[in-house]
Amino acid sequence: RESYDLTSTEASLLMHPVDLSKLTEKVLDAFEPGIKDKGAVLTGAVDPMIIMNTDERLYSEVLNNLLSNALKAVDKGGKIRVSLNQNKKYIILSVTDNGIGIKKEDQKHIFDRFYRVDSSRNKALGGSGLGLSITKNIVNQLGGDIKLSSKVGRGTVFRIYFKSPEQ
Ligand code: ATP
Ligand code: MG
Repeated sequence: RESYDLTSTEASLLMHPVDLSKLTEKVLDAFEPGIKDKGAVLTGAVDPMIIMNTDERLYSEVLNNLLSNALKAVDKGGKIRVSLNQNKKYIILSVTDNGIGIKKEDQKHIFDRFYRVDSSRNKALGGSGLGLSITKNIVNQLGGDIKLSSKVGRGTVFRIYFKSPEQ
């Protein structure tokens, strides 16, 4: 089915206890060739045995969306880092790139549907401007929050916070 269809995404949430560490590694493994092709480097800092109730397919879609954006943001030799860790309060997934970065004015709109930064680079790279709105929508459905921090010319970090399961 069409993954851009938000209502059907909502209707098909399939929550299970998932080994998020393994799933994250699996998504990274699948993404790695694309990053290598561009001459960029992917590092994973994934803590083991992080278990959470989630929808595997939707979690993977979120991570794929963030990785695809990070890949578009970096040049040859660029670095992308994914970390997954857990503290008492949160399970935190982060995707960091040292690419072009996002201006403050653009950051405010970045999760809006169809919003794309207006630059010649972005025009050349294509894309519909839906990835981040879908990503945020999914993260919220999965019970999490997404935040970003970015500096033009330095790079961008997207962090997703899920509540840690009760001990
Ligand atoms: P789609 O994901 O639908 O194929 P897209 O990647 O252009 O298209 P979004 O994923 O919603 O759309 O991202 C919106 C815009 O935010 C992008 O066009 C890009 O300008 C900017 N952006 C997103 N992630 C990054 C990033 N890591 N670094 C720099 N700019 C980013
Ligand atoms: Mg995108």
